[in-house]
Amino acid sequence: MYIKAVVLDNFKSFGRKTRIPFYEDFTVVTGPNGSGKSNIIDAVLFALGLARTRGIRAEKLTDLIYNPGHEDGSATGGPREAIVEVILDNSDDTLSRTQVVNAAGTDDVGDVEEIRIRRRVKETDDNYYSYYYLNDRAVNLSDIQDLLAQAGVTPEGYNVVMQGDVTEIINMTPHARREIIDEIAGVAEFDAKKEDAFGE
Ligand code: ATP
Ligand code: MG
Repeated sequence: MYIKAVVLDNFKSFGRKTRIPFYEDFTVVTGPNGSGKSNIIDAVLFALGLARTRGIRAEKLTDLIYNPGHEDGSATGGPREAIVEVILDNSDDTLSRTQVVNAAGTDDVGDVEEIRIRRRVKETDDNYYSYYYLNDRAVNLSDIQDLLAQAGVTPEGYNVVMQGDVTEIINMTPHARREIIDEIAGVAEFDAKKEDAFGE
């Protein structure tokens, strides 16, 4: 399974709907400073609900909505809504149809060769709302997270390596680095369960 495309609509610096295609094995995004490269990563974290520990670069969710006056902090007009869709190529059946159907809570998920996870954040005068969709079906964040976890994608994992993470890993104590390897290998989960069992 891999990310086939990310569609950003009114997200951060992407004021116009933009589809960014990705290759299966390796894709490089280049561009001048401030052109929006890292915003694409933020979009992936946002849409897949991976932001909790990996840190999207925004103080509030609504800062992610495109704001034409972002640079000078001026007032905004237009729609206060941002949408990101991450399109996963699942043609290798990393996730089974059953897994997708269970996450969506309905049979009606279309062809699961392609898994589309979409998130929308909407700001109103006094509040904001966040919605998740799996192949166009409204779902909860936990449905998305449970589904992705079955493909080895978790908020605690290292599927996304942020700027600074590599330096941090280099500067860690050997013990702390070992904990990361345990996390990636899936052993850490059992350590936690073992601790719990001893606790009881
Ligand atoms: P660098 O090479 O320096 O890492 P980059 O290509 O990764 O740059 P980003 O950090 O992705 O750049 O983009 C930063 C730009 O996004 C800034 O110009 C900032 O003004 C703009 N930006 C961030 N949030 C918003 C928003 N809500 N609305 C409009 N523009 C935004
Ligand atoms: Mg950057």
